[in-house]
Parts: sequence; C-alpha cells; structure tokens
Amino acid sequence: MKKWTLLALLLSVLLVLAACGEGEEAAGEAGIEGEVYKVGIDTTYPPFEYEVDGEYEGIDVDLIRAIAENQGFEIELEPMDFGGIIPALQAGQLDVAIAGMSITDERKEIVDFSEPYFDAGLTLVVHEDNEEITSLEDLEGKTVAVKNGTTGATFAMENADEYGFEVVRFEDSPSMFQEVANGGADVLIEDYPVISYAISQSDLPLKTVGERLNGDQYGIAVLKGENQELLEAINEGLAELRESGEYDEILNTYLAE
Ligand code: GLN
Repeated sequence: MKKWTLLALLLSVLLVLAACGEGEEAAGEAGIEGEVYKVGIDTTYPPFEYEVDGEYEGIDVDLIRAIAENQGFEIELEPMDFGGIIPALQAGQLDVAIAGMSITDERKEIVDFSEPYFDAGLTLVVHEDNEEITSLEDLEGKTVAVKNGTTGATFAMENADEYGFEVVRFEDSPSMFQEVANGGADVLIEDYPVISYAISQSDLPLKTVGERLNGDQYGIAVLKGENQELLEAINEGLAELRESGEYDEILNTYLAE
C-alpha cells in the first residue's frame, strides 16, 4: 500500500513538472512581443539604408523600426556587405534581413519573404558622356560592373555570353558607381531607384539608359521555415503601416523632391 502511495505521489510530481515545462514552451512560442531580433542591413544603399554620423537611416531602416514598434518587438541593426546577408541568416547570425533585397525564386529556396514592399527593377547605367550604349545589344566587348550577390550580378552572368560582355564584381554599390564614373568599366547594373537617388544626390557623372531590365520587388526576409510567427508579425505590421499612411510618410521622407 505504501509503495503505491509513493508511486502515485511520484507520478503526480512528474505530471506537474511536465505541465510546467509545456506551459513555459507555449509561452515562449506564443510571443515575439519583447523579443530582440538581429536585422541585417546593407548600409551602402541609400535611400534604403545608409549611415550618417554613426546613425542608420533610410526607407528600410524606418520601415523595420516602425514594424517592430507596431508589433512590439525589438531590433538590433547589423550592417554588412549585401553578399554576406543571406549566409548570415543561414548561419543564425541574423533573424531578419531588410536590404533592398529583391524577391527571387532562387532566394525562396533559402528564405521566406514578406509581402513585397517596394517596386524596384534593374537598369543599365553608363557614364553621362556615353552616347554609344542604350541597350543590351550595345554591350558586345564591353565591361559590365556588378555587385556580388545581387540580382544585378545574376542578370549579368546569365546574359554575358549572349551579348558578349565581360563582368567585373564589387562588394558595394559606391565602388561600382566609381568604376564607371572613372571609366574603368563601361556599364553597371543597379536597382533603378537606388541609382536614380545616387545620381540626384551627388555629382556622379552617370545616367540610366534603356527600359528597366526586370520587375524586381523588395521583400523582408527570414530564414526559411524557421520564423513563421515573426514573418506573420512583419506582414501584419507592414499592412497596418500601409493602412495608417505611415508607410507613405516614410517613402515621402526619402523620395519626395
Ligand atoms: N535588389 C538587389 C538584390 O536583391 C540589390 C540589393 C542590394 O544591393 N542591397 O539583389
């Protein structure tokens, strides 16, 4: 009889412990509220993200801050070369990426994207004095500068043979812009809003030519299958910012004339 009582006691203790464990787990899963997430950004990419006196600014920075505030989570911004951002997500060094990152099927193998938040698209860019190049057909024997890990780089590699050009690679956009400004390369491929902004804000002797090469749209990324709850919160926050007009305000801050 005593043995049974002891066993029953032990069993109920175990049950209580198990219930506690479950409870904790559920609480942990239930919330992104108050959590701190590491967010990868490419700070050489105005007007989406850049650094002024040690502070980060730009459309992406304001957007992710506003989403975090709306959804009650915290963020830590982690600046890095664009090409390092997806590897850092894979390595668990980042939870989120917002970096003027285009939504592509190839990237969807590795990350989950939010709803699109900006229409970009690639364009050819040449020196302002160049009257010779206006389309891909004019690139035979030319040198095309691209930035590692970008959709511009992929586009260049996929078209180099067909159009007979050579590809040179850079780690960040400003170096790539300089190369064409200095005459080191004939053309560069960049996201239209980014190069237009750079040309309007600086004395870079560059111009865009031809039609947009594709219809790239930007999305916010989390590691595939790992952060569904966070992704839902990001989409919810994004939708609420669009609704409230805050999304438009952020865009106007950086894009209005
Ligand atoms: N939108 C381009 C891409 O996703 C470039 C992004 C960037 O250079 N930050 O590849």
